[in-house]
Amino acid sequence: MKIHHLNCASMCPHGGRWLQGEGGLFSRATIVCHCLLIEGRDGLILVDTGLGMPLTSRDLPLPKALMLTMQPVLDPQETALAQIQKLGFKAGDVRHIVLTHLDFDHAGALMDFPQAQVHVYDVELDAALAPRTISERQRYLKRLWKHRPLWQRHRTTGELWRGFEAVQALGGQDDEEVLIVPVVGHSRGHAAVAVKTGDGWLLHCGDAYFFHTEMAAQPHCPPGLSFFQTALAHDNSARRANQKRLHQAKHAHSDLTVFCAHCPHELRAHQVH
Ligand SMILES: [Zn+2]
Repeated sequence: MKIHHLNCASMCPHGGRWLQGEGGLFSRATIVCHCLLIEGRDGLILVDTGLGMPLTSRDLPLPKALMLTMQPVLDPQETALAQIQKLGFKAGDVRHIVLTHLDFDHAGALMDFPQAQVHVYDVELDAALAPRTISERQRYLKRLWKHRPLWQRHRTTGELWRGFEAVQALGGQDDEEVLIVPVVGHSRGHAAVAVKTGDGWLLHCGDAYFFHTEMAAQPHCPPGLSFFQTALAHDNSARRANQKRLHQAKHAHSDLTVFCAHCPHELRAHQVH
């Protein structure tokens, strides 16, 4: 089983130092969309999708407020589809997509893979399909799933994995297993996705945290990023509690490789190997 670490969208909002503790006062942050492409026994599996062709080509424009605040670089070459084609595969080879949550920068390419089964924690799908609050109505872009994806809802069963409730999304065989691990807070049904590898587990934490320093032995979050995460959170105390649990799990289990969706340093470290 081969696993590729892809950047499937870049965003460059103002306030680099404030958000990432780096660069000058007027620098921009570098926010990536770290996705996994797994060459599975039974076709390709994507973990998160980044932005897709309709968004990057502006056929499906993003809301102006998002464009202004997040400053996405709309580059079709960064889409999962373009990168998959460059590797010699085609869209139809993607059989499964496993999502951390349904924000536009994670579910923005579902349209490029209409034949894939889309695995999601059922609490998150409920939030996206039937938003309860103004912020939920704003954060989920219904146009991203107007093609009616083949949703596969997953509900936790109380099985414990590394101290977290988890649910098996795919596999179950020794060498190929993908789990949905709810770590709610950023959104109502936010989850991490665990992928079994030859020598342990990769844990894609989505937006449960945003920058590598938050998972350091002495965790630290740049002030702007802390403000940003709090402002975006559906349930901030749950978000903080789950972030702490992820930090503890990372330092307690040596077979666990933890990374988030948006940290350029973590992505670079994985692409080097
Ligand atoms: Zn995100």
